[in-house]
Amino acid sequence: MTHAPNLSTADYQRIDAAHHLHPFTDFKALNAERSRVMTRGDGVWIWDTDGNRYLDGMAGLWCTQIGHGRREIADAVHRQMLELEFYNTFFKTTHPRAAELAEVLAELTPEGLNHVFFTGSGSEANDTVFRMVRRYWTLAGKPDKQIIIGRRYGYHGSTVAAAAMGGMAGMHEQAGMVPGVHHITPPYWFDFGGDMSPDEFGIWAARELERAIDELGEGNVAAFIAEPIQGAGGVLIPPETYWPEIRRICAEREILLVVDEVICGFGRTGNWFGSDTYGLKPDLMPIAKGLSSGYLPIGGVMVSDRVCEYLIGDGGEFFHGFTYSGHPASCAAALANLRIMREEKVVERAASEAAPYLQAKWLAFADHPLVGEARMKGLVGALELVPRKPSRRDRFAPVGDVGTIARDISFNNGLVMRAVRDALIISPPLVITREEIDELARRVEKTLDDTHAELKKRGWL
Ligand code: PMP
Repeated sequence: MTHAPNLSTADYQRIDAAHHLHPFTDFKALNAERSRVMTRGDGVWIWDTDGNRYLDGMAGLWCTQIGHGRREIADAVHRQMLELEFYNTFFKTTHPRAAELAEVLAELTPEGLNHVFFTGSGSEANDTVFRMVRRYWTLAGKPDKQIIIGRRYGYHGSTVAAAAMGGMAGMHEQAGMVPGVHHITPPYWFDFGGDMSPDEFGIWAARELERAIDELGEGNVAAFIAEPIQGAGGVLIPPETYWPEIRRICAEREILLVVDEVICGFGRTGNWFGSDTYGLKPDLMPIAKGLSSGYLPIGGVMVSDRVCEYLIGDGGEFFHGFTYSGHPASCAAALANLRIMREEKVVERAASEAAPYLQAKWLAFADHPLVGEARMKGLVGALELVPRKPSRRDRFAPVGDVGTIARDISFNNGLVMRAVRDALIISPPLVITREEIDELARRVEKTLDDTHAELKKRGWL
């Protein structure tokens, strides 16, 4: 059953422009251009009000692991809504779905993570991290350990503490900075690697953490927060040497490791978690997105036994939580999603079938005259668009215009990709088939060719 749109496309666009402020949007520019009105999804496909069909190369927003339109999730949420649509988990109460989901997460996530604090989103999960890290060190008798080290181009959400820990300069400029956060260079060889080989640069970038700890004083540093692969920052896949060196530093220094798995979690990098892919032992691990495949909003922080030793100690109440922490319907959606992912071996199949098939095609785009680098891990990848080859240092100016042009051309070619600076990003549903990957690759190729032609026409090449 589908809902027929009640109004025309133009009517929806008009009322949307009149009343709806979109996230991360130049409102005036959007109103001049108007939104596409999306109405329906099925598998890797989505449709708009005009009947156009798009291949959803971004899995919604890095989240629809099992694809759109799975009836089992709607049914599970429907049943839960009829039974108990909402109750809180604040005052000595729980409910079956929250308890069941907590147990499943303890089982699925890396060893040593056996508790979850539920939130409504990834941003709330990271604001929870901020509170929890400081609470931990206070309870552990080291209240001076307050500083959290993040990375440039890191993204941890749009609430105040999450935005501060992230490394997006534009967000810092608009919101002001929270004291006690420090940023280091990300392991982004393409931009920052200079004359170093990727492996040399991976070590150098990891040692940025060591240098920052020394500079700030180990007694003042509480934690290092990082995504296994930086997603919104441009799918920055670290050189192989990076994480082992960070692991060494974390083992030698007294700081907490926070691994933000909001994008990498639930299969994106070829294992259940990015921490599995890179052999990490997080002390805190924020999750969201793929947890429910985006069917309903839910996030959380997985908390290690090390942190719980103090958190579940004699310190009294933790003054933190959200009305929707452990929302019953969201928990039901997450449980149904994880059941599907386990029963259908979604992660294992994506890793052994879809990922190598897509990677071979994606990496071959490096031969296109517009592509300076093609990179991919699991089912998340980027193409760096450059004006000339082979130089890594030659970029379009101003940065970002070409990425946006290519992204818009891609949408018009029926493929949703995202632009970050002048890179094109994909992160398709994990259930994408070979035939759909063939189709995706055809549309990427056409997008690169069309963008090349458009830039020539403008005299930018
Ligand atoms: N962490 C990471 C790594 C993310 O990519 C995101 C969202 N893209 C967030 C946190 C914030 O999640 P949300 O948008 O659900 O608040």
